[in-house]
Amino acid sequence: AVKATGKGHYNFFKPELYQKLKERVDMERALELAIEEDQFVLYYQPRVNAETGKMTSMEALIRWMRPDFGLVPPIEFIPIAESNGMILRLGDMVMAKACSQIAAWEKELLPIVPISINVSAKQFSAGALPKKLSDCIKNWGVDASLLEVEITESAMMGEDNAIIADLCEIRELGVKLLVDDFGTGYSSLSQLQRLDMDVLKIDRVFTNELTKSKEGDIFFKAIVSMAHALDMTVVAEGVETQEQVNALRRLACDEIQGYFISRPVPANCVPELLLKQFLLPSSAST
Ligand code: C2E
Ligand code: MG
Ligand code: MG
Ligand code: MG
Repeated sequence: AVKATGKGHYNFFKPELYQKLKERVDMERALELAIEEDQFVLYYQPRVNAETGKMTSMEALIRWMRPDFGLVPPIEFIPIAESNGMILRLGDMVMAKACSQIAAWEKELLPIVPISINVSAKQFSAGALPKKLSDCIKNWGVDASLLEVEITESAMMGEDNAIIADLCEIRELGVKLLVDDFGTGYSSLSQLQRLDMDVLKIDRVFTNELTKSKEGDIFFKAIVSMAHALDMTVVAEGVETQEQVNALRRLACDEIQGYFISRPVPANCVPELLLKQFLLPSSAST
């Protein structure tokens, strides 16, 4: 990190490092303000039955409408919020927005489906997640079965008893539990079984391998049969082509999500999707 500047002088003051630090500090300030001013919105992406194309759920995906920057994707601020603790407030906000949105769509008598929200490991270690979820459900008067919680495989990895206890409590509320980005972590079969997860979402890198290599198909098939043996529903993430849909049907994958079905859309576009309900031609017609 120390740069030689010639003549035995060393430059400890690295402009690039300073720039990075400054960006980070600016970002944290902007995030703080964003939380105060509520600059966040949820986008929604449908998940559908692989055979019938009928919507089974929608995933809520956070976006930051940052003034002068436009729509900022979660990858640019969630990791920072996780490292400085802001994720707790963000997480509460996502929960509240999802529940209030469900209540609003119910009021409009739309044929609603459950909404899944993403939670980070940090929200678990705080311990209060089940209580927050149940309060939120009660506050907005929504049915627990209309809410689902996605937790990444790597987040549920550690033999953390607090996480296990929280997951049990959440499930007892009647909220479904989904394993997100499966295949990228190192969870064991026994762990999946013990935690009694309902749905396994296979990371899109594996969907991407389908139809490209024989190994891709074999891997997928193995996960599907394992998940089914554990009584879990299998979802393929990141489905972008008809070929992938065909392969997934052949491999008995239960549900699919991805740009091929729909991109994540803002809340005002959801009613149209809900009224359509079937977002894919059924397999009989392909
Ligand atoms: P994720 O939960 O695995 O969400 C799926 C991501 O894949 C989303 O990115 C979605 O837009 C994208 N995606 C969906 N279909 C396709 C496809 O066909 N092709 C490709 N290339 N991408 C597709 P997004 O919205 O940028 O979110 C990225 C990640 O940020 C999420 O991954 C999730 O881990 C995290 N995230 C999003 N919202 C929240 C939130 O409210 N709280 C927390 N803690 N994390 C969130
Ligand atoms: Mg997710
Ligand atoms: Mg995922
Ligand atoms: Mg992901």
